[in-house]
Amino acid sequence: MNYKIDCLSKAELQKLVEVLGEKPFRGKQLFKWIYQKGVIDFSSMTDISKTFREKLSKSYSFTKLKKEHIVTSKLDGSKKILFKLEDNNFIESVLMFDENRITACISTQVGCKMGCKFCNTAKIGFVRNLTAGEILRQVIELNNILSESGKKLTNIVFMGMGEPLDNLKNLEKSLEIILDEDGLNFSHRKVTISTAGLLDKLEKLVNKNFKVNIAISLNASDNKKRNLIMPINKKFDINDIVKVIKKLPVPKRKRITLEYVMIKNFNDSTADALKLAKLLNGLPIKVNLIIYNKTKRSNLDSPDLNSALNFQKTLINNGIATFIRKSFGADIEAACGQLYASYIKTL
Ligand code: SF4
Repeated sequence: MNYKIDCLSKAELQKLVEVLGEKPFRGKQLFKWIYQKGVIDFSSMTDISKTFREKLSKSYSFTKLKKEHIVTSKLDGSKKILFKLEDNNFIESVLMFDENRITACISTQVGCKMGCKFCNTAKIGFVRNLTAGEILRQVIELNNILSESGKKLTNIVFMGMGEPLDNLKNLEKSLEIILDEDGLNFSHRKVTISTAGLLDKLEKLVNKNFKVNIAISLNASDNKKRNLIMPINKKFDINDIVKVIKKLPVPKRKRITLEYVMIKNFNDSTADALKLAKLLNGLPIKVNLIIYNKTKRSNLDSPDLNSALNFQKTLINNGIATFIRKSFGADIEAACGQLYASYIKTL
C-alpha cells in the first residue's frame, strides 16, 4: 500500500517516524522538507539517513499536481494556473498581484455542490473533495512559480473552485500546516476562508480556534432574492447569518467580511443598499462589493461602476464600512466566480 506523506501534520509525522523506529525530531525534519522546502523526493532530504529515506519511499509518496497551463492577464498581470490532478481531474488556482501583496486563490474541491447562480464552478457540479495534499500543493506550486522572480506569497484566500467548508476535514488539516511556523508559516491574519454560508461548519472551524479571516458570501438583502441565486439560503438563510455573526467570537478590531456580488438590475439598487444597511446595522462586519464579471456561460449582467459607487455611498452613509473589491484577471476568466477549468473542452 502506498500512502501520501504530504497530507500529514507535524504531530502525525512525529508519530509516524516513531512507529518506524526513529527519534521524534526526524518528524520535524521531514515536515520542514515537505512543506517549508516543498521537496517531493525523499532522496533530496540529505540530513535524513539513506536507510530511513529508502524505508519511507517503499510505503509513501508525494501528491503531484501537473501545471497544465498558465495564462496571464493583460489587465493586471494576475495568473490563472490549470492543474491536472493524478486522477486526471482539473482544478484552477489564481495568483494576484496588488502593490506589496501577492495573493493565492486556492481551490478546495473539483467542482462544487452549492449551485450559486453567478458562479461558473457551480456549472461543473460536484466531482470530489481535494485532499489536504492537493490543497497544500497548490500553495507550494504557486510559491515555486514566484520564486523564479525572487518573490513569494504573502496572502492566501480560499475562494477558488469549491466550498471550503464542505471539505472541512481537509481544509482544517491544510490550515494547520499553512499556519505552522515549521510548515508554510503564514500568519492567521493573512489567510481568509470564504464560505457561501455553511454556518454549522463555520462555527465548528471557529470553535477549533482557527483565527483566520472569515468571509461570507451574502449577495442579497432579503431571503426572497438570496433564494433565487444561492440554494444554500434554503438551509441557512440571511437571519441565520446575522445570528451567527452576533455569536462568533470576533476579536476587537477584526471584522467578518460580507461579500456582495453586484448583479445588474437584480441587487444593485439604492433600495437594496438601504435594506442591507438596516440588516447589518451594529454587526462587526465590513462589506466587500464585487462587480459581477459577465462570462459567456451566464445571462446575468455586470452593473456599471456608477451604480456600484452609489451603492457603496448609501451603505457608508448608513454606517457600514464598504469597499469595492478590485477584480483580478477578468480577461482570463480568473475573477471571482469565473473559475471553470474551461481548458477541459480544448484538450
Ligand atoms: S460561489 Fe463558491 S460556493 Fe458558490 S458555487 Fe461557486 S465555488 Fe461553490
